[in-house]
Amino acid sequence: MGARVIQPNVGPNIQKEKEIVKEMIELYCRKKHHRDTLCKECLDLKNYAFLRLSFCRFGEDKTACSNCTVHCYKQVYREKMKVVMRYSGPWMLLYHPIYSVKHLLNR
Ligand SMILES: [Zn+2]
Repeated sequence: MGARVIQPNVGPNIQKEKEIVKEMIELYCRKKHHRDTLCKECLDLKNYAFLRLSFCRFGEDKTACSNCTVHCYKQVYREKMKVVMRYSGPWMLLYHPIYSVKHLLNR
């Protein structure tokens, strides 16, 4: 038996969630940091979130991150993400089908 190779998630649910997370962070950065492109801090948060999603152990069956029993985010990123979601959540409801955002904000 060789070492177990962990394959990143590439399913449609994960992709969709990445899209939404990216938009939320971009919106937050644009309105709070007044940037056209993500500032270093927000880019870092986005990259981190993408990585966590890619290697989420639940893959396509994942629930909302905030509902998850496995808290895979480091504390510092969790706090940042909470702030972003609280800020961008209401905006996202205007632009996106309720269900996808609800899923994400479910808590
Ligand atoms: Zn920013």
